[in-house]
Amino acid sequence: APEGAPAPASARPTLTSVDTLVDSYRRLADVFHDVLSEHRLDALLDRIADALGELVPFDAFTIYQADEARRCLIPLMARDQWAEEIMRDRPPFGEGITGWAVEHREPQLINHAHLDPRVQVVPGTPPDEPEALITIPLVARDAIKGALNIYRLGDDACFTEEEFELAQRFGDAAALALDNAQIRATLELQAQTDSLTGLYNHRYFHERLRAELTRTTRSHDTIAVLMLDIDDFKRVNDVHGHGTGDQVLAGLADVLRGSVRSSDVVCRLGGEEFGIIMASCDAGDAVGLARRLLEGAESHDFAPADTLTLSIGIAQGPEHGTNPRELVACAEAAMMAAKARGKNQAV
Ligand code: GH3
Ligand code: MG
Ligand code: MG
Repeated sequence: APEGAPAPASARPTLTSVDTLVDSYRRLADVFHDVLSEHRLDALLDRIADALGELVPFDAFTIYQADEARRCLIPLMARDQWAEEIMRDRPPFGEGITGWAVEHREPQLINHAHLDPRVQVVPGTPPDEPEALITIPLVARDAIKGALNIYRLGDDACFTEEEFELAQRFGDAAALALDNAQIRATLELQAQTDSLTGLYNHRYFHERLRAELTRTTRSHDTIAVLMLDIDDFKRVNDVHGHGTGDQVLAGLADVLRGSVRSSDVVCRLGGEEFGIIMASCDAGDAVGLARRLLEGAESHDFAPADTLTLSIGIAQGPEHGTNPRELVACAEAAMMAAKARGKNQAV
């Protein structure tokens, strides 16, 4: 071609001309933007796979999340003929090529990966499948978040150094996005959890009660609510100190968790007051649970504190209240009545 005239597209080898490379990085910048604005984890993973596939076409793709405590990789998504087998696998850090890359925090481009001495075959998949592999440890805020693998299959399969470079830059975006999604999930959980006891908090109690009450009304069902207050809890603090008081609260939370069914929602409403939502249950069911709770609290060892007793108020919706506030006020009034009648009982 004459000097200055653009070479025909067909004559341009992929990713070797400056134009193509610039275009790839431009697309990479778009991908950063896209991927980082995706909040839901499953949608995020799809985006990561689609976007990377446009930059560096692949035959198979796996993305792993790191479990640092167990030192293993948990597959989050696999686009692969052997996806089911891959999703069941839990490769440990340091084992296999991916595990090696994670342990050393070193991306690897391995054409003829099946011949690499570090290779580990995923259980249930054929050994010695000829393939080329790029594996990229995903690192964000200096912590290992996971790994991203892409494969090309066949005897002649290979990736170029430019593709390897591009995939690594892409890995930076994927790591940040994964980290973001995890932080968001953690914050969501924290926002509805009481940190001392691990129970749901006051805010969650009211949100959940509102939702359950709406469902109850729509389906002509019933719902029961229990309000619990520890009897003479001030004395525990006065005699044993606030630290022991906190331990007692955590211990009581265990008693509550151990006494309810999985469908019941146990919350710490504040201080030494707790609330339990029993969806699709009536006051009779709640009386049964209250009896178990009173027995459970009395027989539990709260040492160094003495035995605990509870005062419990019960209300049934929608009969005693059609909105959360009414229903809670009703259960609270019943709880106060239990106090007035001598404590250690349910009303
Ligand atoms: P009553 O039988 O009438 O319920 O008597 P009570 O002493 O339990 O009185 P009340 O329920 O009004 O007292 C709440 C006390 O619980 C006040 C405080 O000393 C203690 N308390 C509240 N929240 C906490 C907490 O987070 N940790 C500890 N250690 N104590 C708390
Ligand atoms: Mg109280
Ligand atoms: Mg109390």
